[in-house]
Amino acid sequence: MFNVEKIRKDFPILSRKVNGKPLVYFDNAATSQTPQQVIDAIVNYYHNYNANIHRGVHTLSQEATDLYEQSRQKIQKHFHAKFSHEIIFTSGTTHGINLVANGFTSILKKGDDIIVSALEHHSNIVPWQMLCERTGANLKVIPMNNEGELVMSEYEKLLSKNTKLVFVNHISNALGTINPIEYIIEKAHDIGAAVLIDGAQACPHIKPDVQALDVDFYVASAHKMCGPTGVGILYGKEAWLKKLPPYQGGGEMIAEVTFEKTTYADLPHKFEAGTPNIAGGIVFGAAIDYMNNIGFDAIAKYENELLEYATEKLLQIDSLKIYGTAKNKTSVISFNLKGIHPYDVGSILDKLGIAVRTGHHCAQPIMDYYKIPGTIRASFAFYNTKAEIDALVAGVKKAKMMLS
Ligand SMILES: *Cc1c(COP(=O)(O)O)cnc(C)c1O
Repeated sequence: MFNVEKIRKDFPILSRKVNGKPLVYFDNAATSQTPQQVIDAIVNYYHNYNANIHRGVHTLSQEATDLYEQSRQKIQKHFHAKFSHEIIFTSGTTHGINLVANGFTSILKKGDDIIVSALEHHSNIVPWQMLCERTGANLKVIPMNNEGELVMSEYEKLLSKNTKLVFVNHISNALGTINPIEYIIEKAHDIGAAVLIDGAQACPHIKPDVQALDVDFYVASAHKMCGPTGVGILYGKEAWLKKLPPYQGGGEMIAEVTFEKTTYADLPHKFEAGTPNIAGGIVFGAAIDYMNNIGFDAIAKYENELLEYATEKLLQIDSLKIYGTAKNKTSVISFNLKGIHPYDVGSILDKLGIAVRTGHHCAQPIMDYYKIPGTIRASFAFYNTKAEIDALVAGVKKAKMMLS
């Protein structure tokens, strides 16, 4: 059974104090905390296996290569990809998106359309704007409504024979909205467009099945799912990854090099130029094991309880407004106190040991929609508790008293 007190013991950082108060960590949408099992996997790698991979005849190099490739297979299984070479190690979600955007430079023509959503993180907007500048393609935007949901009837109107690509996040990091990606993918495929889903915010909460989704590309970052920073994955359907040109040139990604002509390595190495984050790739597998041991169904159920509890308690504070009230959402609450700047509330909460994020959350278009400079965002993980939410609510009440 799900035992949060036992789980919390896995996370050394949760027992530290901040400003003399027990840390309440509610910035999980920016990065998750790291359990001892994952920290141990990092130490184990550097104690016992540290070597460069894929090129050594010596034992250490072969062992490190095996661990790295086993981790790739573990990730393949987790995302239910058909082949392990459809999993490309990246430095994170941003890198994966840029890799695909760069690859489409030679595929898109002037007058083609690419579609993004109003709920995107900047990392899923800017690379496409740059792609449009390079190719002369047009960027179209699926609008959102007041609840923070994408308007599907408007999406359908944007689709045409010119649409080549659609990019949407699975879950919005700013509002927590779970987007109807199954429907978005189906409609895009009906007219022959490819779809990239940004799963950075979804993977800490749910286990995506890329084959069931029939998605063309799916990207994620390890550091949002109990893993280390600086590593992530790009899933791509084999046919797409074969079609896209390499992103960076260098060692590891070549088959043969002469000054006349270079031929590229097979997948996945074609997209993995240079020495990768070897420890990170191996440890990403350990993070996935850790989360699967707890179980994504149990995680989702518990986080949903936290979300409902926190929503109810926070809404009891008058003059508090929650942004993003989609029926389908995860454990992210973006809110403001009327007439008070989010930054001021965040500073007072920090003095109380409570870590929240304030600002635009790398999603300025959403803030523009609501005509606000930013929000206070509390995002919960499976290791948070209702007692911590009580501390947040008391802190927000205190901030309100001090600032109004
Ligand atoms: C965090 C996040 C990103 C960026 O991830 P990086 O690890 O910084 O590359 C992109 N999209 C969403 C929805 C995110 O939450």
